[in-house]
Amino acid sequence: MNCNKATVLMSAAIDGELTAIETDELAFHLENCPECRSEFQDAKNTKIIIRERIVRVKAPKTLVETIVRLTNVIS
Ligand SMILES: [Zn+2]
Repeated sequence: MNCNKATVLMSAAIDGELTAIETDELAFHLENCPECRSEFQDAKNTKIIIRERIVRVKAPKTLVETIVRLTNVIS
């Protein structure tokens, strides 16, 4: 995966729209690409803040799992 693809997947990941395979691919890229890792961190923080304000208790389980999983990878 290149960084362009990773950026697209990051956006989808934050929206909870990745398949399990895509999540794995993205996680692998983030493990190996510090630039995308920090970009994802920023994007995630921004989106989570927005989401917490709008739908505090309504985040779908799959979204939560995706974010938790990717957070574990990059932290
Ligand atoms: Zn990258």
